[in-house]
Amino acid sequence: MPDAADEFDLIARHFRPLAGPGGLDLLDDAALLPPPPGRELVLTVDAIVEGVHFLPNDPPDLVARKLLRVNLSDLAAKAATPLAYLLTISAPRGTSDAWFARFAEGLGQDQQSFQISLLGGDTTSTPGPVSLTVTAIGHVGPGKMVRRSGARAGDGLWVSGTIGDGALGLLAIRGEIADPAGRLADRYRLPQPRLGLVDPSLVRAAMDVSDGLVQDLGHLCRASRVGATIFAERVPRSMSTPEWLVQSLTGGDDYELLMAVGPEQEPTFQAHADRRGIPVTRIGTTDAAPGVRVLDAAGRALSLENRGWRHF
Ligand code: ADP
Ligand code: MG
Repeated sequence: MPDAADEFDLIARHFRPLAGPGGLDLLDDAALLPPPPGRELVLTVDAIVEGVHFLPNDPPDLVARKLLRVNLSDLAAKAATPLAYLLTISAPRGTSDAWFARFAEGLGQDQQSFQISLLGGDTTSTPGPVSLTVTAIGHVGPGKMVRRSGARAGDGLWVSGTIGDGALGLLAIRGEIADPAGRLADRYRLPQPRLGLVDPSLVRAAMDVSDGLVQDLGHLCRASRVGATIFAERVPRSMSTPEWLVQSLTGGDDYELLMAVGPEQEPTFQAHADRRGIPVTRIGTTDAAPGVRVLDAAGRALSLENRGWRHF
């Protein structure tokens, strides 16, 4: 915490202006949120930690926007419309007021873009690196949350955007690969939540891809009790050199969506995505044999040592 300002002062100056109606000006012990009439609430929480998900010198406004967006990406995967969020901050004593100001500025910017507001949170000091947590709240029609478990054998597997850029962006920021226009670094720092893409009448199962495509696909398959076969060459990548193939299949931080679409719905789904200007690509199919198979251009199975990012 900064010397001159205690946490209450900090909250009042930086976060109170961001509070929505249920946030009660951040003056009460808790917030109050009436669900929109006839809707169910969808809740998700994601934390980001300095040194793991962002770098110590990353601009605080971008850190704030990434924090919101990784959560909005989860809501997008569940077909939910974003509504509000709660925010927990643990920062070292002495974190500058300017850092909090720019952090709050970033939150304000994305609150506008995504029509959400702050309901409350908690602020503590920590002997460790900055740790930030958002609990995001969205809403869906009754029974309309799209789960990981709805896929059936024979569904088409689709992804949004390009896969692997988040991991490449981290390498670019570290100076390990060239990124003259800074495009890959931007992908790492500022994911684009694909809100509006998952339509419960078109998509049977969905999840956001944050820990590596192959590992995440494995999670969706287990939840749905199906297997999958995908074609490495069809996975959309912004750098198509062979050495980045495995990186793109297993690298984290993409925040794109993975979706299982019934074969009869695929043309409608494609048209729906086109109308929203969101690129989608069919990368394979689900099938009855358990496990995830990744085939190369010649139809041979690729064996991947690491299937994705693991914290432990
Ligand atoms: P408590 O003593 O119950 O922990 P606090 O003093 O931490 O309450 O919080 C006071 C008010 O400020 C509450 O309304 C809480 O939601 C809000 N608040 C605290 N930290 C944050 C934050 N990082 N973002 C938004 N609201 C916050
Ligand atoms: Mg508190």
